[in-house]
Amino acid sequence: MVYDVIIVGAGPGGIFSAYELVKRDSGLKVAVFEAGHELKKRKCPIDGEKVKSCIGCEKCSIMSGFGGAGAFSDGKYNITNDFGGTLYEYIGKTKALMLMKYVDEINMKYGGEGTKLYSSAGSKFKKECMQNDLHLLDASVRHLGTDINYVVLSNLYDFLKDKVEFFFESKVDSVSPSEDGFEIECGGKKYACKNCIISVGRSGSKWMEKTCEKLNINTNSSRVDIGVRVELPAEIFSHLTDELYESKIVYRTQKYGDRVRTFCMNPKGAVVNENTNGIITVNGHSYEDAKKQTKNTNFALLVAKKFSEPFKDSNGYGESIARLSNMLGGGVIVQRFGDLIRGQRSTVSRIEESFVTPTLNATPGDLSLVLPKRILDGIIEMIYALDKVAPGTANEDTLLYGVEVKFYNMEVEVDNNLQTKYDGLYVIGDGSGITHSLSHASASGVYVAQQIAQQQNQT
Ligand SMILES: Cc1cc2nc3c(=O)[nH]c(=O)nc-3n(C[C@H](O)[C@H](O)[C@H](O)COP(=O)(O)OP(=O)(O)OC[C@H]3O[C@@H](n4cnc5c(N)ncnc54)[C@H](O)[C@@H]3O)c2cc1C
Repeated sequence: MVYDVIIVGAGPGGIFSAYELVKRDSGLKVAVFEAGHELKKRKCPIDGEKVKSCIGCEKCSIMSGFGGAGAFSDGKYNITNDFGGTLYEYIGKTKALMLMKYVDEINMKYGGEGTKLYSSAGSKFKKECMQNDLHLLDASVRHLGTDINYVVLSNLYDFLKDKVEFFFESKVDSVSPSEDGFEIECGGKKYACKNCIISVGRSGSKWMEKTCEKLNINTNSSRVDIGVRVELPAEIFSHLTDELYESKIVYRTQKYGDRVRTFCMNPKGAVVNENTNGIITVNGHSYEDAKKQTKNTNFALLVAKKFSEPFKDSNGYGESIARLSNMLGGGVIVQRFGDLIRGQRSTVSRIEESFVTPTLNATPGDLSLVLPKRILDGIIEMIYALDKVAPGTANEDTLLYGVEVKFYNMEVEVDNNLQTKYDGLYVIGDGSGITHSLSHASASGVYVAQQIAQQQNQT
């Protein structure tokens, strides 16, 4: 069997590629190879009772399987060019926004209708932030919530399953150019295709690196974001989250001129572990369903670190810092802001006495032993800055979990069609290093699918 298109990875990038391909041309033979499980088999063993922290499953159900890293995410689709990736640099701002809106329409059609679309345009908080040297970025945010996101994914799978051939628990070993296209090797078997879309996300970053090396495709890696996840009573941020849901606020530190930003805000949400290639970091999500909501809001505070020549391994730098927290805490460390400022570690009893109940079972410890001074100073400055627009942020009991690392996949050299130097070999989504979000990854999938379908129709 020669497929017209083989898609590697069934995250949002891969799913939206498959969706658009079969919508545009139902005659196309499309196969999707996914290293993880199908959606209903995805289950993280952490139950808070028997299994309290990450046990390093071979196939991490949080990061892989149908739905990709986004399946149990908060399902926040940020419709903006201001953050979430640089897709617009390749396809233009108008097209990028148009595709993100198109993805939103599909999500609404497949179970997301009735969910809220928030917008920061014209918000009074923009002025309030500016008056305090904070900068609120423009975006529309569709919040599906973890529960509805799952429903949308289930419905998309039901739509696709008879039109596309899915191979689950099938990690692709290699992609090689052949006479008529590409040969995909998976579990000792070979599959042929005319076009190949690689959408392996963050969990496939090491694989992507090796594949680029083998195929001689240029890459570039220079950025990593490092910081903490902040958790505090939901009331402290409610005036912002009720109106905007997620506010992306940027601050430039006075001490070093570094940029610190809020990231992935989860009102009434939960803090969770994230396992990237065996390294445990922290993340967060929240539910649309009020019954599943918590009393806390969480968000990340990240400092962007860009390296210049000769250093090239920015992710390696982030990994080393995360490993340090794993070494000291056996996983994620939690510390009260008050303890951090006083230069003392948090202990089990200090956390128990705290007025904020942690939603993640992390090890109480000292983040100043883990985070580089420059990064920690930036985070502390930002917490005091946020305290001016959301009083209470700098409270004693505000919890800081560390470390949160936003790994950026190395950027793969592609042209404006997201095509590599090999005709018919496309790299999209977070695996390309171009996107870092659900909406951008999904939009990149639609974009490439439209081009392939168009070419197929012409031949
Ligand atoms: C806990 C969490 C919460 C998040 N919350 C949000 C949010 O609210 N909003 C937002 O915009 N973003 C969020 N993100 C990020 C978002 O999930 C990603 O940006 C998005 O999923 C990227 O989509 P993708 O298709 O490029 O890659 P992924 O979703 O990572 O999917 C890639 C898939 O490829 C598979 N794969 C990898 N290598 C291979 C191989 N060799 N062979 C076969 N399959 C392979 C993987 O198993 C995976 O399923 C969150 C991420 C996490 C982990």
